Amino acid sequence: MARVYNFSAGPAVLPEEVLKEAAEEMLDYRGCGMSVMEMSHRSKMFDDIIKTAEADLRELMNIPDNYKVLFLQGGASQQFSAIPMNLMKNKVADFIITGQWAKKAYQEAARYGKANILASSEDKTYTYIPDCSDLPVSEDADYVYVCYNNTIYGTKYQQIPNTKGKILVADMSSCILSEPVNVEDFGVIYFGVQKNVGPAGVVVCIVREDLITDDVLEGTPTMLKWKTQADADSLYNTPPCYGIYICGKVFKWLKDQGGLEAMKKRNEEKAKILYDFLDQSEMFKGTVVKKDRSLMNVPFVTGDKDLDAKFVAEAKEAGFENLKGHRTVGGMRASIYNAMPKEGVEKLVAFMKKFEEENK
Ligand code: PLP
Repeated sequence: MARVYNFSAGPAVLPEEVLKEAAEEMLDYRGCGMSVMEMSHRSKMFDDIIKTAEADLRELMNIPDNYKVLFLQGGASQQFSAIPMNLMKNKVADFIITGQWAKKAYQEAARYGKANILASSEDKTYTYIPDCSDLPVSEDADYVYVCYNNTIYGTKYQQIPNTKGKILVADMSSCILSEPVNVEDFGVIYFGVQKNVGPAGVVVCIVREDLITDDVLEGTPTMLKWKTQADADSLYNTPPCYGIYICGKVFKWLKDQGGLEAMKKRNEEKAKILYDFLDQSEMFKGTVVKKDRSLMNVPFVTGDKDLDAKFVAEAKEAGFENLKGHRTVGGMRASIYNAMPKEGVEKLVAFMKKFEEENK
């Protein structure tokens, strides 16, 4: 069996230990004679799985008791609709546009109320995070929305935007659990799990309790109302059981690694190896303003499309998969999520050095 170094932006690399354990338990989960995939979501066994997953996530992120954790389906994109439906009491929301995912969330919210753009980095292909220290926040805004780490462009907020007291909602799909965050700075944190946590389809919403009410937009589907899910402990209907089980295993793995402080340190070390190389290379250049660089997604270019394509092809042959940049950016992107070992980044940099030498 040969595992590649998988630099995919998502679905993405998961810890090998987790995959192995899941494989071992595939036919017979802890002596019950069936797979978690075959198990009733109302069974005691599954109840343990989902409760343990929630408890471990709470511990890892230090989630206060007045926040609910919801394990939902529909991916992160489903929440682009659910958020305005649940939060737009005044039918006003403010957005900071730092890439395609923030823009999609904005466009969706605009279907339900007034969506304002407070700041945007579209003028420079989203290569930076706008200054968020003094935003023109709307007086009647129900919330301010950000995409905390921009998977496609490789930027990340280094500071919490000043929302002037308004609720902050953050899509953390591509940086969740990569470093500690102070949950209390946010009204809602949500993430599609397929980058740092588990199988696509599951979306986890961490929502402050007072924001979970029956007062939702008229016509909100029962399934999209957070209260439906919160009242039923995420078991209103059949949840994505197997996905949640894998998420739970990744939470345990993160605890074994030393938690989020340890992950932050490790992620900083890994990212530094790649960014240091990019900063001195004659051939490869990072595309993002240095101060806003993501620890998770690292886009880079040679400036020559043919050379980019050659690099991606040769890298693939050498066992480095999914380095092609997003179709809207071009070039390359290395996603170096929690489960990417340091050795994978070191080997990639060694390969880049060699490629640069050979293609001068
Ligand atoms: N938000 C961010 C930051 C993403 O990177 C993605 C990409 O997958 C999404 C949202 C969309 O997630 P999903 O495909 O689960 O709807």
